[in-house]
Amino acid sequence: MPEIFKSPAFVISGQDLGESDRLITFYTMARGKVRGIAKGAKRSRRRFVNALEPFTMLNLSMVPPRTTGLNRIDSTEILDNFPLLRNKIDCYVMASLCCELVNLWTKENDPQKDLFKLLRWYLDSLNEGFPPRKTTLFFKTLLLALAGYAPDFDLCLLCKRPPIGNHVVFKLHAGGFICNECRKSGEKTHKISLGTLKSLRHIQNGSLDSLHRLTMTDAVLEEAWSLIKSLHCHHLEQVPASYVAVNGLKLEIGK
Ligand SMILES: [Zn+2]
Repeated sequence: MPEIFKSPAFVISGQDLGESDRLITFYTMARGKVRGIAKGAKRSRRRFVNALEPFTMLNLSMVPPRTTGLNRIDSTEILDNFPLLRNKIDCYVMASLCCELVNLWTKENDPQKDLFKLLRWYLDSLNEGFPPRKTTLFFKTLLLALAGYAPDFDLCLLCKRPPIGNHVVFKLHAGGFICNECRKSGEKTHKISLGTLKSLRHIQNGSLDSLHRLTMTDAVLEEAWSLIKSLHCHHLEQVPASYVAVNGLKLEIGK
């Protein structure tokens, strides 16, 4: 009998599998990303009583395959289903984006306790009513760092000095910026204000407990959002599908 695997977990993705089953992707505390088949979940919702809905935090028990094949989900016990997040469309769309990013950035069986903690903090924050776009920016900036792609927001790539003036030019591929002194005239791509740079530095170096105290103007938030999105897309070599829904939100809310 294979040993049952147990861990606190978040549901980060799910898809139908054949006539009656679902294939669920979790981010677990013990093993990082794992996938498991939910037998009969498509036919009868009662079997797992909403435990396999996106973002649910649960105690997961899974049985590994005897030889090859998929893990089988044995039992689930809901720890938190973040009900307030679920009822707000902007929160739901943002949380979907962040779960997709976790799925894209992680390998199976590669646990990162800090990522589990970050995901918990993020879903708690949305559920407690913190602004979704700003909270999502925090999450994505920190996720990039956990994935090993933390940009250098401190010193110019060329002269290694702190920036002066109003703007710098960000180099996505190099993960850093070129200051006004070093930049050749005419370079317009990813022009970033020093205020945005300072906010991103604060997010990257700050602790989760104090992040929500950071104030940002709308202009800084949008500039930071655009840069962090570009960095994710550049390193992942794709635009995550959830951005379609996120961009739709922007039109609806007008911001
Ligand atoms: Zn420089």
